[in-house]
Amino acid sequence: MRALICLALASALGAQETRTPRVEHLVAAVDPARMEATVAKLVSFGTRHTLSDQTSPTRGIGAAQRWLTGQFQGMVQLRGSRLRYFEDRFTQPIAPRIPAPVVITNVGAVLPGTDPARAKEAIVLTGHYDSRATDVMDAVSDAPGADDDGSGTAMMLELARVMAAEKPAVTVYFVSVSGEEQGLYGSTHLAKRLKAEGVEVLAMMSVDIAGNTEGSNGVKDNVTARIWSEGVPAVETPAERRLRLALGTENDGRSREWARYLKRLGERYVENLDLLVMLRRDRIARGSDHMSFTAEGYPAACLREAQENYDRQHQNVRTVAGRAYGDDLAHFDAPYAAKLARALCAAVATLAAAPAPVRDLTLGGAVSPDTKLRWTLPADPRVKGLLLFRRRADGVAWQRIERLPVTDHLVIPDVVPDSNVYALATVDAEGNESLPVGPTHLE
Ligand SMILES: [Zn+2]
Repeated sequence: MRALICLALASALGAQETRTPRVEHLVAAVDPARMEATVAKLVSFGTRHTLSDQTSPTRGIGAAQRWLTGQFQGMVQLRGSRLRYFEDRFTQPIAPRIPAPVVITNVGAVLPGTDPARAKEAIVLTGHYDSRATDVMDAVSDAPGADDDGSGTAMMLELARVMAAEKPAVTVYFVSVSGEEQGLYGSTHLAKRLKAEGVEVLAMMSVDIAGNTEGSNGVKDNVTARIWSEGVPAVETPAERRLRLALGTENDGRSREWARYLKRLGERYVENLDLLVMLRRDRIARGSDHMSFTAEGYPAACLREAQENYDRQHQNVRTVAGRAYGDDLAHFDAPYAAKLARALCAAVATLAAAPAPVRDLTLGGAVSPDTKLRWTLPADPRVKGLLLFRRRADGVAWQRIERLPVTDHLVIPDVVPDSNVYALATVDAEGNESLPVGPTHLE
């Protein structure tokens, strides 16, 4: 009987790769021209340094913030829009790279979830709208920040617009944060605020440096992007640490699973795109706003272009010996940034609509030739099936995804648990998948 179940599962392989018309429609609506116009407008403020002018109507971070507020508020007014304007404003006291108290304002839109049982669950997306020049304390020089992070800011506006009328199960935040270049101040405040409000962030993505396709070494690449995620969680309880060491899940934390989810869904809906799940929290000794969320114990990752150009990041706009420096609009590749926006849109539109995940996945079968799994199904009537993810323990990415009927246990005969890794997701009638959940108990 067990063997028969397994055969039936194998035959269903591939069924979960079906695109849903709803998500296809959303993905198709992402408009590179709008993203380009957003980045052009952001560049027009001259500098968006966190410590720059907050009163000028045309230059500095204040003008940029008020323009973004107007854009997000405009989306609230769109026909059929369910969005609400969101603002997180605070005074950052003196701190490293903050010589005097400064008002920092995160602005965005919130798409409320519709499942009352999951009212506190959310997906959070950010791009940072502050920028910098060569000297991180230089609040006066031009700092166009087209790629860093006009690209991520444009993506927030575009995804909020595209998803405005959606009715997801859980809430989605689209936020343009500030203070990133000075030390992740805006996102730190946002993450702590959500924590204090009891929001359970299922997945957070910082989109930061996601629109350049010509590397410093001249390599041109508009078909690849990188997703950075921690392996070992920044925050874990002693019990979680013991479980991680027993299972060897350094490559299977919740942030990494979210990164894999973005790869799987993004590549399903976007042609000619290769999303790399990097086995690193971020680029070496660099960071972004996802780290503010992992510091609060939330699963979070960062989406970035594949080829960075260091002449265009954190550089005063200038030409030296014929070599041009600066993060200018001319090198913002809108079709590429739109491709990444589509991938993120596919992942978020699917995850936000997915049923609740299984709980208490228990792995049994120690010193046995058979793997034994059991779990608790969520009290979510939309669960119409399960997806079992597996790979051999010498692999880094899932090797098999098998569809299961709605059940609460499984025995996989002749598969030794020691040599394999597992996770389980729920799926609804439309094909929306929850994030895969790994074992939380051993027996
Ligand atoms: Zn950045």
